[in-house]
Amino acid sequence: MSKDVREVYEAISPADFFYRNREIAGFDNPVRATYTIVRELVENSLDACETHGILPSVYVSLTETGRAGVYRIRVEDNGCGVPKEYIPSAFGQILFGSKYVLRQTRGMFGLGGKMAILYGQITTHSSVKIISGTGGPVKYQCELMIDIQSNKPILLRGGIKTLPNPLYWHGTIVEFEFEGDYSRSKGRILDYFRQTAIILPYANISFITPEGIYYRFLRVTDKLPKIPKEVLPHPKGVDVELIKRLVKRTRSDRMVDFISYNFHRVGRKTALALLKRAKIDPNKDPKELTSDEIVKLVNAMKRYDNFLPPDASCLSPIGPELLVKGIEKELKPEFVYAVQRKPSSYSGHPFIVEAAIAYGGGVQPPKPGEINLYRYANKIPLLYDTASDVSFKVIKSIKWSRYRIDLEMPIAFFVHIVSTKVPYKTVGKEFIADIPEVAYEIEWALKTCARKLKSYLMSKIRRIAIERRVNVLEKYLPKIAQFSSELAGKNPSSIDVEKIIGRLRR
Ligand code: ADP
Ligand code: MG
Repeated sequence: MSKDVREVYEAISPADFFYRNREIAGFDNPVRATYTIVRELVENSLDACETHGILPSVYVSLTETGRAGVYRIRVEDNGCGVPKEYIPSAFGQILFGSKYVLRQTRGMFGLGGKMAILYGQITTHSSVKIISGTGGPVKYQCELMIDIQSNKPILLRGGIKTLPNPLYWHGTIVEFEFEGDYSRSKGRILDYFRQTAIILPYANISFITPEGIYYRFLRVTDKLPKIPKEVLPHPKGVDVELIKRLVKRTRSDRMVDFISYNFHRVGRKTALALLKRAKIDPNKDPKELTSDEIVKLVNAMKRYDNFLPPDASCLSPIGPELLVKGIEKELKPEFVYAVQRKPSSYSGHPFIVEAAIAYGGGVQPPKPGEINLYRYANKIPLLYDTASDVSFKVIKSIKWSRYRIDLEMPIAFFVHIVSTKVPYKTVGKEFIADIPEVAYEIEWALKTCARKLKSYLMSKIRRIAIERRVNVLEKYLPKIAQFSSELAGKNPSSIDVEKIIGRLRR
């Protein structure tokens, strides 16, 4: 008789999935987890400020608890805060968030902050404490844990408490314990703060380390980049599922209206052209579309070449002026030049590349074989896997000798890409894929900066040569003037040596 062989089947929750696969989100080991926890919480704070036009002030403290390898992290910000009804899910339900719309933010999955909290919970079995205010007369406080199997927050100690908020404070404080390794993640964490200070010259960021060292990165400007706006999906990036969802919630009863109201940069004329290609009647009710027609519509949108590219109102680049300010503040270079490229797009996703080159002064030459490359995506510094990043490859491919640049010189490169969908190669969000459109923009941004550096270096060489000549002349010219005027029987003071030298310097 044959044995009954049966698999055991079960469904797991998103929290359970990420609990089992935490390395996907950057929680592989205590060293990496310490860095990722700091980064995820700081990023939530910065998003909460910038999407509401608030100049960020973020305070981070990491303290030892007295138990081996257990730290307590506390992050306080002055952001928009979280309304009472969303606090439990925002901090206790994986894949819940306010960033699923088309708008540039650092977070996008409804995951990072909660993974940090979940990591704290599974390594120390402790809860997270949240205090949040949205600028009203009261603020809220609660303690919670995540029920991993059901992916639900469990409120502790009597639920959410309402506290007076006499100063009408808005912001959020998040505090919990986790098992980590600060001494081995310290280098990365400090790099993360320093590089963040470069890209955010308008932010105040404080960090108190477990050793009690107080790092302060102060703002040097009150100018914030423009707030990103939410936009409609661009037709180049749509698929069948998206059309189905839009059909479900549309109030239009004619296809031509449905298309022109629901897609970014599509007007009536384009809508009619698309419908003609898909052989769909413009007066048809969208709710009556057949599956076959939806597929035809998607294909027509994919093949249509005359769409206007996505506009960049959903993006929030920092601009050359702020980039230069940030670089000057943190690195004090002798020369710096920054550019911003025009908006571009790949597969229907808008993006903008900004880049800068800094030279000399506080910029050190790179270690042999390396490049001083500062990479940023949506204002997040990317610190791991530099050699796999598209910017690294672009820099390696440029003929720098044309610009009189040698990669061993004290040069630092900065590349910032902002997009509603940064083309990261992995979920770990550490390096950017070689998308040809992106590589092209990076290349031209860097080449523009390189041309400026070249002319700076050339004029510097010229200045040095003139200075050398002037030094020699300053030594001998007065004597020559004296001899020659004596020979000519004239008064030596009639020759204005200073004036001659001044002319050379010009
Ligand atoms: P994500 O940032 O990808 O959306 P998170 O788990 O990090 O996912 O955060 C979930 C949600 O909680 C965010 O979308 C945001 O709405 C809210 N949130 C988290 N931290 C803060 C904060 N410091 N201030 C305001 N809102 C926050
Ligand atoms: Mg986040």
